[in-house]
Amino acid sequence: MDKIIIKNLEIFCNHGVYKEENILGQKFLVSASLNLDTRKAGITDSLEISVNYASVCSFINDYMKAHTFKLLEAAAEHLILALFAHFDKLLAITLEIKKPWAPIGLPVDYVSVEISRKWHTAYIALGSNMGDKLGYLENAVSSIKNDVNCRLLKISDFIITEPYGPVEQDDFLNGCIMIQTLYNPNELLAFLQHLESDANRIREIHWGPRTLDLDILLYDDIILDSDDLIIPHPEMHKRDFVLKPLCQIAPNAVHPLYKLRIKDMTDNK
Ligand code: ATP
Ligand code: CA
Ligand code: CA
Repeated sequence: MDKIIIKNLEIFCNHGVYKEENILGQKFLVSASLNLDTRKAGITDSLEISVNYASVCSFINDYMKAHTFKLLEAAAEHLILALFAHFDKLLAITLEIKKPWAPIGLPVDYVSVEISRKWHTAYIALGSNMGDKLGYLENAVSSIKNDVNCRLLKISDFIITEPYGPVEQDDFLNGCIMIQTLYNPNELLAFLQHLESDANRIREIHWGPRTLDLDILLYDDIILDSDDLIIPHPEMHKRDFVLKPLCQIAPNAVHPLYKLRIKDMTDNK
């Protein structure tokens, strides 16, 4: 993938676990490798459609001076989040922060922390069959959209569907969204479960009525089977109320286990 590289941008600022470091400050060197698609900008020779590295340097400089973190890990994590929020063409970032004057009492060139983060693509199924169903779904979508770790890319129609499973209950309103997220799969699940509890979801009967249900259907093309998270969602291929809205926004997405396009899984049911 194409990259813009910034090496050893020198910034005097105040990060560190010791009070003295926060007061006196010291030299930090920030290096960033920014993944983006430079092809259009390359062909047309226009800066507006690329990412301006002078702006990135100035943004990093301002950010590092405006905040004080104890750990290099925290400085790197927060700076990456801020860079993604500010420069929307960035697809992935590797960031290294070096501390050449780290107070460790031994001769060393520098200590540093390097982290890499990227936008992942995920599909989420939404469902509600209690109370203000549309309100619950719309609230969930707007909370996802407003989270700095997520970007809403596509949203399906919401469809009314009959309940599934053995429990007698009201009709559902179902839909799907496509997002980009910086969360790893477990963080994404925790975030969605948090939104479910904000909607007063009470886990009473399995497959019983609920104000809000948010399931991770696909996350990039990963296949995951852990105690509390299975991706792709293990029931998605059997469920019309999932496949129909998903097919509307991602007909050509491929199920990584069955190696079938969603549109073909939907047609064959
Ligand atoms: P189903 O998962 O069959 O649609 P449900 O949505 O009613 O049923 P919940 O009570 O919402 O089930 O969730 C039960 C558990 O499923 C959650 O606590 C979560 O740990 C687990 N889980 C496993 N895989 C996923 C996934 N892909 N998305 C969301 N939850 C998942
Ligand atoms: Ca579900
Ligand atoms: Ca669920």
